Amino acid sequence: MNKSVCIIGAGLSGLTCGARLAKAGFDVIVIEENTQPGGLLSVTRIGNEYLELVPHHLRKSDKALLALTRDMKVSGKIEWFDSTWYGRAAHRKVGYFTEGFVCLTRSLMQEITDNGGRFMFSETVTEIQRTEDGRYNTVCIMSDSTVHNHVTDIVIFTGSTRTFSNVAHGLPIDMDMRDSIMDITYTASITTLLIFKKKYSEVYYQSANIPDDLPFSRIVNHSNVFGPRGYGGNVVYLTGECLVSDPIWIEDDATIMSDFFAGFRHLFPVARKSDIKAWRVTKTRYAGFGKYPPQDLTCPLEGLYVCASALTKHATTEEPANRMDPTVALANDICAKIIEKNSIEQDTISDSIVTPITGSEDASSEGDLSYEKAR
Ligand SMILES: Cc1cc2nc3c(=O)[nH]c(=O)nc-3n(C[C@H](O)[C@H](O)[C@H](O)COP(=O)(O)OP(=O)(O)OC[C@H]3O[C@@H](n4cnc5c(N)ncnc54)[C@H](O)[C@@H]3O)c2cc1C
Repeated sequence: MNKSVCIIGAGLSGLTCGARLAKAGFDVIVIEENTQPGGLLSVTRIGNEYLELVPHHLRKSDKALLALTRDMKVSGKIEWFDSTWYGRAAHRKVGYFTEGFVCLTRSLMQEITDNGGRFMFSETVTEIQRTEDGRYNTVCIMSDSTVHNHVTDIVIFTGSTRTFSNVAHGLPIDMDMRDSIMDITYTASITTLLIFKKKYSEVYYQSANIPDDLPFSRIVNHSNVFGPRGYGGNVVYLTGECLVSDPIWIEDDATIMSDFFAGFRHLFPVARKSDIKAWRVTKTRYAGFGKYPPQDLTCPLEGLYVCASALTKHATTEEPANRMDPTVALANDICAKIIEKNSIEQDTISDSIVTPITGSEDASSEGDLSYEKAR
């Protein structure tokens, strides 16, 4: 029988794991607390286009991610552009899908469902339990407070390590490992997406010369590079890091937008509020992390995997960065381990279920019997 896998989260990690494992013959179920897939790659519809709520682009060096786009047959939809960064003509190539990142999300979902996988949206995982027979019970709560249980052989958690610690609180995870997981700290981020009638800058990406007292630290003028497309205006993202204890985190969207716009106007005094055609504020609770953990924390128990961006690298002095490429590489790694382990187990099971087809009454001595693997 196929092994079953419960994947928690339908962001890039969860969808990559789902696509890889469903294709390899696992019985996959993906659980997502939001109503739509994508996680940080979630989109909003503007005119006939889908636009990410937080800015994303591809790089030529994104090896694992670009390989995934080829596997999912969407690499032909990537366009590469020269971009101007920090006010200098850096000619850094940045890539974007002609239809937005939603085409990657969709093709990953298609791969999962084509191979028999299922999705459950609007289900929040509150606990992962161990069953008496060594499997896992993923307990989910729906918006109407009904509870769903999903019992599977394997669980892959793709949310933050903080959330993992909460939902895995009852599992017999080694204390040192639990402490190391708890040591990972996150910063939040707030992105205000503005669609302006006008263009105020030629730069694609600006993080320099933004005063510290402004609520954002990055400006991404999306339309400067990827064109006006069907958005009906110039798309500008303003993104700032914060802590959830900062007062801005609990402000309402309209106040945040006004604060961000005031900051933007400080840099571009000609900007007028009446030039804004549309706006949207997105809060990301687990956006960045402090440091990579010193050891591999991706498999705290047999059959239980954590595929979180914060665990993409360990034992490295590199600056931690939340990026899609290492996220996909980690998902690939975890799936390769699961597939390899499962095929070894299958071989062991096949070897142990043997049927004697010839032999004498006294079959104790080796060589007297011929065996055939049970099929
Ligand atoms: C502002 C910003 C800009 C970025 N720009 C870029 C860029 O230009 N290029 C780049 O390479 N990378 C970029 N990144 C990083 C990129 O977005 C991430 O690396 C990638 O999307 C992570 O995917 P993920 O699936 O691991 O996590 P997520 O996208 O966070 O997905 C996790 C999913 O799990 C779900 N979930 C969590 N807990 C539960 C639960 N208890 N029950 C059910 N579901 C749950 C969540 O709802 C979510 O959908 C950016 C990140 C940010 C914050």
